[in-house]
Amino acid sequence: MSTISPVRERFDAELTHLATLTDSTRPGWTRRALSEEDIAGRDFARSLMRQAGLTTRVDGAGNVIGVLPGRLGGRQIMLGSHTDTVDGGGRFDGITGVLGAIEVVRLLRENDIRLDHDLVIVVFFNEEPNDFGFFCLGSRAMTGLVDRSTLAATDSTGRTLAQALPDSGIDPEEFLTSGFDFTNVTAFLELHIEQGPELERGGAQIGVVETITGINHFRALFTGRQDHAGTTSMSVRADAGCAAAGTVLAVESIAESGTNTRGTSGQIRFTPEAVNVVSENAVVEGEFRGPDGSWLHEAARRLTEAAGQEADRRGVTMEIEWTTDDAPVPLNQPITATITEAAAELGLSRSRMFSGAGHDAGIIAAKTQVGMIFVPSVDGRSHCPEEFTALDDVLPGISVLLETVLRLDGSLRH
Ligand SMILES: [Zn+2]
Repeated sequence: MSTISPVRERFDAELTHLATLTDSTRPGWTRRALSEEDIAGRDFARSLMRQAGLTTRVDGAGNVIGVLPGRLGGRQIMLGSHTDTVDGGGRFDGITGVLGAIEVVRLLRENDIRLDHDLVIVVFFNEEPNDFGFFCLGSRAMTGLVDRSTLAATDSTGRTLAQALPDSGIDPEEFLTSGFDFTNVTAFLELHIEQGPELERGGAQIGVVETITGINHFRALFTGRQDHAGTTSMSVRADAGCAAAGTVLAVESIAESGTNTRGTSGQIRFTPEAVNVVSENAVVEGEFRGPDGSWLHEAARRLTEAAGQEADRRGVTMEIEWTTDDAPVPLNQPITATITEAAAELGLSRSRMFSGAGHDAGIIAAKTQVGMIFVPSVDGRSHCPEEFTALDDVLPGISVLLETVLRLDGSLRH
């Protein structure tokens, strides 16, 4: 059993410093991918990795990668998470896993523990949704899930991702060829806040994730006709905004039809945006989530049909694209068992979990066995300034991460 404890003060200081790297014009903590603050956040994480004794580099997709060489070389255990946030987000989502992984490296070095495996720490680029319809972009690039169509995606101003990446120091061509060689990666672990209420409600300290939700993102574009709001009778309008509004309601009713399923239309835009003008264009962006891949496909089919009907009955045209289609990820059984054993060894209460949030771990799962360790979120709040996990709840998660690494490495001494 490991009796090594994470150091509260330095974790707290680093968390506090990262929180200062925020867009001060936005509410809460805002470090969106492709922003200056995000570059500063990843730079800070890289400086901590260097101080911890890691050899670091930034790959072609902006992922910061640090390596602590093992005794045997060759085989690798990977840990990671992200430092970008949503607009008006919190201080813990992603950041807990990044700082927690770096703390594990320091604890190993300070206690003269040399792993057999190389320990690879990754700060993934752009985990949260960007303006181009993508999330988990860095982990997708590492696993070879990006191509020229990714670069050609546009934001609401018509700018392409290829045009936006260089501002973050990322060359679009290198972005396409930044796949990581996972041949020798024997496991990937991500420590994360739960972002939901289950652990707090059940009184468990550690969540052991068994399934990560599937996510289908869509973008529906409606084209009608711009007209005068006072002189154009209802019967002759082609109101793109109304077709979009009907689609938002269809997302809600489809999502209500499943078990543990969710549907959200988080963005809607009308053009021109004026109170006395019938909308010519409207765009709805949203998503479905759930633990069942066949339900997600059926939901996509039903929404495509419903959006088409909302458009047809108003003489509006509709195009829908599904920008991401990630199947639910069942996490590998041996690794979840190892996390459970590690938590038990440390005397921590634990609970099996379904993750309704998507994570880089879900993308990396295509390449190696993956495990996720959750710690409680106060009131289940996340993606908002109120997001909070007390250090007393974070530190046990770091201990479980360390203990799991030791067990996976096979170097545990009883
Ligand atoms: Zn996250």
